[in-house]
Amino acid sequence: MRTRALLPFLLLAIPALLYAQNPVKAHPAQMKSKTQNPAGVHQSAIVIDTHADTPQRFVDEHFDLADPLGSGNLNLDSIHKGNLGAEFFSIWVEPTLYKGQYAHRTLELIDAVKQQAARHPDQIQFVTSPEGIEQAHRNHKFAALMGIEGGHSIEDSIPLLREYYDLGVRYMTLTWSNSNNWADSSGDITDTSIPHAKEGLTEFGKDVVYEMNRLGMMVDISHVSDRTFFRTLIIARAPVIASHSAARALCDAPRNMTDDMLRAVANSGGPGSKGGVVQVNFYSGFLSQPYRDAQKALELEMKKAVQDLKDRYKAEGKEISYIDIDKVQRQFADRIPRPPFSVLIDHIDHIAKVAGVDHVGLGSDFDGVSGQLPEGLDSPADFPKITAALMERGYSAEDCRKILGGNLLRVFREVQQVSKELQAEDRPRITEKQSSDKPQ
Ligand SMILES: [Zn+2]
Repeated sequence: MRTRALLPFLLLAIPALLYAQNPVKAHPAQMKSKTQNPAGVHQSAIVIDTHADTPQRFVDEHFDLADPLGSGNLNLDSIHKGNLGAEFFSIWVEPTLYKGQYAHRTLELIDAVKQQAARHPDQIQFVTSPEGIEQAHRNHKFAALMGIEGGHSIEDSIPLLREYYDLGVRYMTLTWSNSNNWADSSGDITDTSIPHAKEGLTEFGKDVVYEMNRLGMMVDISHVSDRTFFRTLIIARAPVIASHSAARALCDAPRNMTDDMLRAVANSGGPGSKGGVVQVNFYSGFLSQPYRDAQKALELEMKKAVQDLKDRYKAEGKEISYIDIDKVQRQFADRIPRPPFSVLIDHIDHIAKVAGVDHVGLGSDFDGVSGQLPEGLDSPADFPKITAALMERGYSAEDCRKILGGNLLRVFREVQQVSKELQAEDRPRITEKQSSDKPQ
């Protein structure tokens, strides 16, 4: 902390000292513009956001990224304005609405992301690797990637997991807000009517984690229960990510991460690993305790309104979509004042202090939080403000570039490296059971 307090002074003082000693080589104004100008630093970064729910809009609203934002958070215009280099589009299947057709809906969402890239080849490049992200950046294109949100999408099938990898999916949260047959969620862990795994992961769940490591699909622990989190970290061979999670010390949501969990992510992966990364969620209900408290006060009323809407659709024989439910949730959210922009920076700063600046990044959850975002944070066009606010708190240009995307690229690379090593190991591919399940 002392270092951080000194940092702004040092950054200002060093150019001045250099100028005094060698006025020809270093002009203080030039050095300042290179190292201290937040807009310049932001432009020089490969900015990566690891979670946006826009695919729901592609499928249900026929939204195109070239369209105006409307009620959404992400489009091409805002991507360009905010220098967003890469987005992991969330492939999220609502578990109740799509019961019995998880794979069907998963494939439709995957197709929708690819269709966007196909429609705008001059602006969007569909990629599946860290090198792909860098190549798209060099081509001045926005890189589109995919992550599955919720292990229920694999319908308890390792072959389906492998097929999703082949289609380009590069991370999977082991659960969404629902526990599945092999991993538990923070969303229903206190619900005793739902069966939970004794160790947080069943034997099959451990196979899933191993197979993800072997394939090179990032293991994403956002949404899982605390026990599932720690069990996963014990067995994971590669560093893990939290694609969209905030800090529980600042806002007491079960879905947020305790300081111990933040440190555990930083230490995840095998020996010699550089550790994982926590990508901070922008949702007001995860960032601000007063906002969360106000939400709780409205919760029952909102749940009733959503149920009423579901009943009405059923009675009329109509299919309800996530977008319809979202509209009702927005009406309630609009009654609560938005928290200040600084709450997001507080979480990034907290995670950087607890886990280290190499272990924090951005996971907006755009288009998945009913517009419940801090003031002045509505789309990627507002991303340069994050860089400016971090620099104001003493973060260096290098720190900012790590937070904006460098950390995620590092983890993504390491996950691919571990995958190569595991594939080189002479170990049978998992079919139904992992070999280690057999008594030795
Ligand atoms: Zn989520």
